[in-house]
Amino acid sequence: MNFTELGLDERLLSGIDSMGYETATPVQEQVIPPILQGKDIIASAQTGTGKTAAFLLPVVNKLLTEPHDTHLVNALIIVPTRELAVQIAQAMEGLSYFTDVSSIPVYGGSDGATFATEKKALSSGVDMVICTPGRMIAHLNNGYVKMQGVKYLVLDEADRMLDMGFHDDIMKIISFLPKQRQNLLFSATMPPKIRELARKILHHPLEINIAVSKPPEQIVQEAFVVYEPQKNPLIKSILQKSDFQSVIVFCSKKSSVKQLAHELKRAGLSVDQIHSDLEQDHREQVLLDFRNRKTRILVATDILSRGIDVEDIDLVINYDVPNDGEDYVHRIGRTARAASTGTAYTFIIEKEQQRFARIEELIGKTVTKAVVPEELGAVPAYNPRGGHGDSGRNRGRGHGFKGKRKPGGQNRPNNNRVS
Ligand code: AMP
Repeated sequence: MNFTELGLDERLLSGIDSMGYETATPVQEQVIPPILQGKDIIASAQTGTGKTAAFLLPVVNKLLTEPHDTHLVNALIIVPTRELAVQIAQAMEGLSYFTDVSSIPVYGGSDGATFATEKKALSSGVDMVICTPGRMIAHLNNGYVKMQGVKYLVLDEADRMLDMGFHDDIMKIISFLPKQRQNLLFSATMPPKIRELARKILHHPLEINIAVSKPPEQIVQEAFVVYEPQKNPLIKSILQKSDFQSVIVFCSKKSSVKQLAHELKRAGLSVDQIHSDLEQDHREQVLLDFRNRKTRILVATDILSRGIDVEDIDLVINYDVPNDGEDYVHRIGRTARAASTGTAYTFIIEKEQQRFARIEELIGKTVTKAVVPEELGAVPAYNPRGGHGDSGRNRGRGHGFKGKRKPGGQNRPNNNRVS
C-alpha cells in the first residue's frame, strides 16, 4: 500500500519520501488508519516491522491537523532503553522534517547540560517527548513538566519495559496525564501481564496482531551483495554452474520477470515464466511443466510466493529484495518443503540494503553474504546503516554457490557440483 492512500498530510509524505520508504509495511497499513480515527490500539509487532513509523506518522498527523497547545507536552512516548529513545527520536526527526512539530528524547545517563535542556523543553512545552521511565520520573518529581496537554500516549516495547521492572514507574507517569487521551501499546509478545497492563491503561482497544513467521531452519540462506548490472551475469553463472534441479526465481515486477526469462532462455537454460498477464490455462500449464520437471527454472512474480504447492524445489532466488519480511519468508518457504533441505539466495543492490537489513532483523538472523564470482568485478560493501562504497572483493563470509549445502552453518561443498 502506498502512503498516499493512508490520507497523511503532504508534509509527512515528503518526510516519508526523504526517508526512502516506498510502501507502507503491514503494521503501518493496519495501525495507521485506526490511530487516525482516534482509537486505542494494542499491537503485537516486533522491531524491524516498521512499528516506529506506524505510531509516529499518525500521531504527528494528528498534531498537524488538530488544534493543540504548543506550550504543553502533547504526545508522550515511553520506551525501555536510551538506545530505543534515540532511535525513535532520529526516525521522528526524519519523518517530521518538513513539519513544525517539535520533539525531544529524554533519557538517563547524560550530563547536566542535557538535563537542563530537557527541563527547559518540558517546562516551556514540546510537542512530543520520547522518554525512558526513570528519567521522566526525575523530571516529574521536580514539578515543572507540562503534562496536562498530553493527548497521545505510546508505550513501545511494553513487554520489555515490564521485564525491566518499569511497571510502577509507568503507572506513576500515567498518573500525571489527563484521563482523556488516546493510548497506543506496542509489544513484541503478549504475555498475561501485558494484557493486565492494557486493561489498566487502554480504553476499548483495537487489537492488532502482526504475526511474523520465521523461515524453516533447514533452509540455507545466503545473499549476494551486488551492483544492478551484475545481477544477470550472476544469475546465469549460478544456474549454469550449479546442478539445482528445480529453481524458482522471484522478481518484484512483471516486466523484470519477462526480461529475465528471455535473458535466461537466450543463455540456453530451461526456463519459463509466470505472472498475472498470463491466462489461467496458460499459468496452469506452466506450473504443470514445472512440477513435472519439464522446466527447470521458473521466473515468477509474488503470485507464486504464497500457497502454490510444488514439492522438491531446491533453490529459490530472490532476484530482488522482497518488500518486507513476510514476503521474504513466503518466497523462501517455497523451498525446503516437507522437511527436505533447500537453498535461498537473495540479490541485494545498494538501494535495497536497508530493506534487507530490516528483513534480517525481522527473521532474527544475519544472512551470510556469499562471495560473488571474481570475474564479475568489484562489488559494493554491505553497509545498510551507512553509505555505500566499493568494498573490494571477497568480503562475504559465505562460500558462494558451490551447490546445495547442509544447513547448520558448516558449508560442505558438494564435489559433484561445479563452483
Ligand atoms: P522499526 O520496526 O520501527 O524499528 O523499523 C525498522 C526499520 O525499517 C527502520 O530502519 C526504518 O527506518 C525502516 N522502515 C520503517 N518503515 C519503512 C517502510 N515503510 N519502508 C522501508 N523501510 C521502513
